[in-house]
Amino acid sequence: MASKRVLIVGGVAGGASCAARLRRLDEQAEIFIFERGPEVSFANCGLPYYLGGVISDRQKLLVATAERFRDWYRIEVRTRSEVCRIDRQSRQIEVVNVQTGQKTVEPYDALVLSPGAAPIRPEVPGVDLEGIFTLRTLEDTDRIAQWMEEHKPRRAVVIGAGYIGLELAENLLRRGLEVTLLEKLPHVLPTLDAEMVIPVEDALRQQGVELRLGCALAGFEPGGNHRLAVLTEPGERILADVVFLAVGVRPDVRLAQEAGLAIGPCGGIQVDEHMRTSDPYIWAVGDAVEVRDYVSGQPTLIPLAGPAARQGRIAADNICGRPSTYRGSQGTAIVQVLDWVLACTGANERKLRQCGIRYEKIYLHPMHHAGYYPGAKPLHMKVLFSPEDGRLLGAQVVGREGVAERINVLALALQKQATVFDLEEAELAYAPQFGSAKDPINMAGFIGANLLRGDMYVAHWEQIELAAGPVAEPPDCSGVLLREGAEGASPVLLDVRTPGERTAQAVPGSLHIPLGELRTRLAELPRDRPIWVFCAGGQRGYYAARILQQHGFQVANLSGGMNTYRMVQKR
Ligand code: FAD
Repeated sequence: MASKRVLIVGGVAGGASCAARLRRLDEQAEIFIFERGPEVSFANCGLPYYLGGVISDRQKLLVATAERFRDWYRIEVRTRSEVCRIDRQSRQIEVVNVQTGQKTVEPYDALVLSPGAAPIRPEVPGVDLEGIFTLRTLEDTDRIAQWMEEHKPRRAVVIGAGYIGLELAENLLRRGLEVTLLEKLPHVLPTLDAEMVIPVEDALRQQGVELRLGCALAGFEPGGNHRLAVLTEPGERILADVVFLAVGVRPDVRLAQEAGLAIGPCGGIQVDEHMRTSDPYIWAVGDAVEVRDYVSGQPTLIPLAGPAARQGRIAADNICGRPSTYRGSQGTAIVQVLDWVLACTGANERKLRQCGIRYEKIYLHPMHHAGYYPGAKPLHMKVLFSPEDGRLLGAQVVGREGVAERINVLALALQKQATVFDLEEAELAYAPQFGSAKDPINMAGFIGANLLRGDMYVAHWEQIELAAGPVAEPPDCSGVLLREGAEGASPVLLDVRTPGERTAQAVPGSLHIPLGELRTRLAELPRDRPIWVFCAGGQRGYYAARILQQHGFQVANLSGGMNTYRMVQKR
């Protein structure tokens, strides 16, 4: 006899993971998955790569089939079955077969909602013209692939430069299309801070992608020789044969709302830490739910596959009497764009400011593995942490190699409430082809911990930008006087790189004393003004700062040196 009857709405990331976990915990339960589409458990995340031809076999996108659910898990999957109503009173759902229109009623002991999210279609004129697509399901993908085959488009416009927009842009390039990427915000990938995405924007432009940043969509109209014209708020008309809308998703809460379940302030289904909705017999997981932001503690929407799968497990645990809890979402994510990889976890600087959370930040640009071993590539890292106790608040890593390893360590560290002092002590695997004896993770810890212990003060390039303006007086030493900041005496910028490096690119007006000459030329430096020292990436700047500090100078190291300067300056 069945122990309980569990019905699951939606059979992809959250729903499928919940179903499989339920079976592992309860061999006696009756478990049903209702899925509106023709397939369950397909790989949404692989869809852009199927369109680009990287994944050539469509079958590979089917992670688990209805047959596997039946044979391995004794779970009944009903595809093409849309759940259209929940009767909470009698604990039943109404299901309609989308092919035949036939309706059935199914009783439940526990109901799990994992209906996902729907791509946003902005309400602008012409949005329903032919050739404008969104990408969410396998059916969307088949439709797009067939349409592209028939119409052979040459110019594509992708609207929205988030994860999916970027992946689409790259895969359209792969198919040989000319691509324009339109983004309302002033930079691509808004989950990272503006300066961190500069290398990727440069790479996209170098590959011929036309980036229209800070440019909002106004509408569409027929485009003459080309199928469509994309109209922008600045009044441009960009011609396109095909358009992809990738401007975000909206949680699918229709069923929940109609059933009177509580909806949260961000518009997602409200759940507690056990993934239980406002009805004790109904759970909800995945893109449709609102979660707690792990750093700010505020409700948020984080539509990612990892959280959906984990929440599915947690709902299953609780349905089976194990009171496991969801810790909240950090938004840990990674995306590849051309040969660049961008990743983040926790809050970015913009978010911390918005939430009024005090933070300190550091930049570093280490090699992804030992510099002496062939193939070392630079990483660009930004780590945000609490100035009070060093607890990690967020991190961003951009590079060509070694990005995933670092963000994954930082993500777990952040979730475990680790501090920069913990990163100093992290014992990580090392051989020269994989990392360094002092891994970039340790380096981030050293820098952050030095700062909090007062062994080194850090300044940031944008503080100079803020403080700068037309310089009134010529410098009184060979450096430049920066405009007086709020703190009083204006700082002197000191470049400690080699003459060759300085010839390649100098910061206007900076004083130059190579690190090797610093101890013998201290007399050239003022003692009544702060000295902001910099090198290429921050390390020699730190050595110089230690020398100067121990000789009684007021000194700060410009975080990330010239590498950060270039990123900040371009922004
Ligand atoms: P979904 O996986 O969307 O599943 C919901 C299912 O419910 C759908 O199949 C839908 O048909 C069905 N459904 C809805 N309503 C009903 C109903 N009333 N009756 C029956 N069935 C219903 N995340 C990452 O972490 N990394 C990535 O690289 C990544 N890449 C992505 C690329 C693309 C193109 C897309 C679209 C998403 C990507 N995501 C990625 C996001 C990730 O796929 C989602 O976060 C995840 O699938 C959410 O799982 P879910 O179960 O909440 O919803």
